[in-house]
Amino acid sequence: MQDLLTEIAEAAAANPDKGAVATYIPELAGIDPDQFGMAIALADGRVFTSGDADVPFSIQSVSKVFALALALGRVGDQLWYRVGREPSGLSFDSILLLEREDGIPRNPFINAGALVTTDTYLSGSSPREALGELLRFIRAAADDDSIHMNEKVAKSEIATGHRNFSLAHYLASHGNLRSSVDKVLGTYCHQCAVEMTCRQLAIAGRFLVDAPNMPSLVSVERRRRINALMMTCGHYDGSGDFAFRVGMPGKSGVGGGILVISPSRAAIAVWSPGLNRYGNSKLGTEAMELFAHRTGWSVFGVP
Ligand code: GLN
Repeated sequence: MQDLLTEIAEAAAANPDKGAVATYIPELAGIDPDQFGMAIALADGRVFTSGDADVPFSIQSVSKVFALALALGRVGDQLWYRVGREPSGLSFDSILLLEREDGIPRNPFINAGALVTTDTYLSGSSPREALGELLRFIRAAADDDSIHMNEKVAKSEIATGHRNFSLAHYLASHGNLRSSVDKVLGTYCHQCAVEMTCRQLAIAGRFLVDAPNMPSLVSVERRRRINALMMTCGHYDGSGDFAFRVGMPGKSGVGGGILVISPSRAAIAVWSPGLNRYGNSKLGTEAMELFAHRTGWSVFGVP
């Protein structure tokens, strides 16, 4: 495993096409694209890393996995009255289907759906309390109390997040938000601004792995369902491509991180800030493709 991770990091370093760093969140625009890290946390507790696996990055939409688990913990299956479970086939920040589908977002991993998820775990608490609860969940999963939110990144996104504000107002116009648009956006942008290293993210991802001695933060059935949503919706309009190339449930973020689950074996985190045309890490996706090819860990069978 260590040799494979080292080889993958070397291949990434030698690849001249790193993809393009997201610039629409000003605080993230200056990140050096020439970085790559990978970590794997095996079900038996062993952890292997390569490259920049101990460099913290903005997890952005990978946070939607933790937020979903928290929201389901709050309201259970009631959540599905307010958000769907189908891939959108559209970019992460698209507003298109919201009008046609009466303010019910397609799934909890596109921005519109994630805003409903955030509104759900925010309901009945202050943003500070809700974010405290989210951080406690992530820290417990990662077994690491040093994980924090980057205030500058959150503020930078709040100041420029016109698209997300418009999505939230649209949801509110359909009665699909309980808290105010400002509170939901403030909480959502702080959630996205959580910083983690690949090592921390892989260890935290183990709550979605079916193996002994895993932290039991969600029930078996809920874990299965979150994995299903990651497979079908975790990479937006690139979800089919990721399933085709990698064949494991994954959730990407615009900071360049991807959390991938091998459901009975391991959680894997990969990070490289340059993105492909779907807004998913370019080298991260390629690394996972190579990893899946070598290990035969596609859930669709050994090649
Ligand atoms: N915070 C980002 C946004 O809402 C997250 C998007 C992403 O990571 N794809 O635009």
